[in-house]
Amino acid sequence: MLFDTHVHLNADQFEDDAEEVIKRAREKGVEHMVVVGFDEKTINKALKLIEAYDFLYAAVGWHPVDAVDLTDDYLAWIEELSDHPKVVAIGETGLDYYWDKSPKDVQQEAFRKQIRLAKKLKMPLIIHDREAHEDIVDILKEENAEEAGGIMHCFQGDVKMAKQCLEMNFYISFGGPVTFKNAKLPKEVAKEVPLNRLLVETDAPFLAPHPYRGKRNEPSYVKLVAEKIAELKEVEFEEVANQTTENAKKLFGIS
Ligand SMILES: [Zn+2]
Ligand SMILES: [Zn+2]
Repeated sequence: MLFDTHVHLNADQFEDDAEEVIKRAREKGVEHMVVVGFDEKTINKALKLIEAYDFLYAAVGWHPVDAVDLTDDYLAWIEELSDHPKVVAIGETGLDYYWDKSPKDVQQEAFRKQIRLAKKLKMPLIIHDREAHEDIVDILKEENAEEAGGIMHCFQGDVKMAKQCLEMNFYISFGGPVTFKNAKLPKEVAKEVPLNRLLVETDAPFLAPHPYRGKRNEPSYVKLVAEKIAELKEVEFEEVANQTTENAKKLFGIS
């Protein structure tokens, strides 16, 4: 059994065949999935999906790329939604310095607000970090994010950063990039992160693992990520599958 802790089944790329994609994932042993909503449209779609499938859960937050659009009303709406029994995390939030739609200071403010919200609600955070490693760690520290804890999703930092995040009560989640032939860093980090603090995800439809790199990703491929982790850590696939599923259930409070 597997747990895809980060999937965008609510993306337009799954508009036509979400049902089949979900079915294929279940057939590959993916027991649970967390559908991540990060703006008004994707949050609404995530809510519909969790109503339709009992094994789907949702995370609600605001993506750093769209931080300029995060109003106080939206933040209040996210807080309201957190009451839903199948909304299990706040995010994805964080910083994305690759895209420049939202200036850095605006992203940082939106990030801080969501950290404070997660702490207030006692819910885990899902952190998106693209080319912003130092500021992510600084802000997590300054805001005492360890009180909320959560997930460093599709982790791209180095071993040092991974250790800092582990100390702050975060799990490290690996996706497709750990399977890429030329990706040294995530492999190094995966070897260092203890299995009881490690998660797997797809981030589908993005970042498909090898040998599907460049194609549309889907949650059934989380198996490929778990297989790679098992190979890197020199343990059985079953151990990785079971432990990462247990970790995710514990973190999200799913029995
Ligand atoms: Zn992300
Ligand atoms: Zn995502």
